Amino acid sequence: MAERESWEECPSGVLTGMAEELRRRQSRRHLLPAVGGLLLLVAIGGILATRFHSPSGAPELTCSEVIPLLAQYHDDMLSATMMQRVEQHLSDCPNCKDRYSKAFPADARREHPKHHLEVEPNHEAR
Ligand SMILES: [Zn+2]
Repeated sequence: MAERESWEECPSGVLTGMAEELRRRQSRRHLLPAVGGLLLLVAIGGILATRFHSPSGAPELTCSEVIPLLAQYHDDMLSATMMQRVEQHLSDCPNCKDRYSKAFPADARREHPKHHLEVEPNHEAR
């Protein structure tokens, strides 16, 4: 019977340890997916944001960088990458777009050349 007592003491200690371990695992199980999910969302959001903002992978230009380039952009004198970056900035920045269309009104007019042409055939068709 002495053997049995010592045998019982051992598993009781092991069981307490296992119970504690289980409790720890359960609390971790609740935390991990939440933290992991958040990190994943942030990572995906970051990747998507950088992809949408600069498809060429180049850093975005600032207004003060774009403004001196507008004349060259208008004359198509920039490299293909720079053309793309200036175009990207103009589509994102109404201030620079406004400045560009004021500095080069001929280019702004070119945006609606079909307006009159589209109306006339409709009139004739009726
Ligand atoms: Zn700008």
